[in-house]
Amino acid sequence: MEGDEGNRDQSSREEWTLLFWTTLAVVVPVIITLWCSVQRSKRKIHMKDFFRKSKHGWHCTDLFNKPTYCCVCQQHILQGAVCDCCGVCADETCLRRADRSLVCKEIMAPSRTDGTLAHRWVRGNVPLCSVCAVCKEQCGNQPKLCDFRCVWCQTTVHDDCKPSLSDGERCELGEFRSLIIPPHYLHHVNKLRRRHPDEYSKLASACGSGWTPVLVLANTRSGNNMGEALLGEFRTILNPVQVFDLSELPPSKALQLCTLLPPGSVRVLVCGGDGTVGWVLDAIDTMKLKGQDQFIPRVMILPLGTGNDLSNSLGWGSGYAGEIPVEQVLRNILEAEVVKMDRWKVQVASKGLYFRKPKVLSMNNYFSVGPDALMALNFHTHREKTPSFFSSRIINKLELDGERVALPSLEGIIVCNIGYWGGGCRLWEGMGDEPYPPTRLDDGLLEVVGVFGSFHCAQIQVKMANPVRLGQAHTVRLVLKTSRMPMQVDGEPWAQGPCTITITHKTQAFMLYHSAEQTDDDDDESSTSEAESSAPHDSPKPAGPASARA
Ligand SMILES: [Zn+2]
Ligand SMILES: [Zn+2]
Ligand SMILES: [Zn+2]
Ligand SMILES: [Zn+2]
Repeated sequence: MEGDEGNRDQSSREEWTLLFWTTLAVVVPVIITLWCSVQRSKRKIHMKDFFRKSKHGWHCTDLFNKPTYCCVCQQHILQGAVCDCCGVCADETCLRRADRSLVCKEIMAPSRTDGTLAHRWVRGNVPLCSVCAVCKEQCGNQPKLCDFRCVWCQTTVHDDCKPSLSDGERCELGEFRSLIIPPHYLHHVNKLRRRHPDEYSKLASACGSGWTPVLVLANTRSGNNMGEALLGEFRTILNPVQVFDLSELPPSKALQLCTLLPPGSVRVLVCGGDGTVGWVLDAIDTMKLKGQDQFIPRVMILPLGTGNDLSNSLGWGSGYAGEIPVEQVLRNILEAEVVKMDRWKVQVASKGLYFRKPKVLSMNNYFSVGPDALMALNFHTHREKTPSFFSSRIINKLELDGERVALPSLEGIIVCNIGYWGGGCRLWEGMGDEPYPPTRLDDGLLEVVGVFGSFHCAQIQVKMANPVRLGQAHTVRLVLKTSRMPMQVDGEPWAQGPCTITITHKTQAFMLYHSAEQTDDDDDESSTSEAESSAPHDSPKPAGPASARA
């Protein structure tokens, strides 16, 4: 009996021991994981605070994409941080020292006594395939922190060759001098007692002839992190002060820099989709309202995402995914020509709501009611297609310049300002050799077409059918009586009740147009990366401000 009890005691003790170890084996890893994640988030907050206070534009990476050496301890490093503006690199342990001891590219600084700018050298990590300015041999090919790059003119030089540089350390800002805002320009503007455009023009003479500074406005929310990478690359080449992240600063604030630059000289490069371009153009309209007409910039587009019809109509393609280097993008700015582009006001007056102000929208691309707006609406709301939206007599009345147009049985109307619609379709010209009146971006005319239904719409998009050409007009008025219908302006859809739509001319914007002869761009909407590699001379000319066949 006693032996039995002893056995029972022992087995219950074993059970307890087992339970204890099992619990320990489960609980300990959980505690360790929790502790680690708390530490990690603490560190993250800490780093965020550090980056916010830093004068450098640090960018962390888990793996550098080329051989990299820490600018402080000179060791080869795989991960760490790089400054987008000046190119200084550091591993995590040296980051704070690098931040304190190494100066970044100064956005504002006095010039030398003779009025010139000195090179600003950063040692090591020169770009791959750099060539020494003195001996013309390759730079940065030794496995250590070596050789120099000037953060302004991008000149590279060997450690040993640097003393033999014959330019007296004078920096001319390199290939893109006409686009860069030199630090001494801002220094002098800041010192001005009287801030007047005439004074700016006087100061500009020190920046060389043909100086047309560019402001880069990038939307990091469009097109797969492309905006983020572009911001870094433009900050490397330009003055970081002229590169703006639209997720941190709205265009209206960014454009205020124009008012410190010589009138009529500024170009703005918008990196984003058509929507971002509209946002910037609206901000430019606000500048006009503030009486800043003389400072209004010319606008160029670097399209992010896909199917950007406005960008396509201006010769910049429908989407950029890094096919050409940013240096080429900047060269394109220098070669682009200025064109005017009409902008329109869309007024939506809902029936029965006479006391409420009509909804007013700006339009650059197109207005539509019917099937193609429904596609946009479904895309936005992730809803199933609802054919019940339509009756074939959706449009009760259409007036072009006050004249009533007799309508066939249509399900939708599309009103276009630009040549492209629906992600690369040339709607007004259509297909076939049927003659059509020419279209221009600056003629103050809208092109109005009709579609029979969603199937017809789809056929038009794949170029198997033409829309019904209804006419061109300076003013378009539509009366719609259906209870609810899909409607869109520039791809922004909504569901609308009975209403009267009036589209009138609002203003003209100065845009930069890219003509095809200069580069290897292609006007085919299907062109993305493949098109860029095609031969420069066999690509067709895109129909730009003037019609292709006019
Ligand atoms: Zn280090
Ligand atoms: Zn820096
Ligand atoms: Zn330099
Ligand atoms: Zn050399």
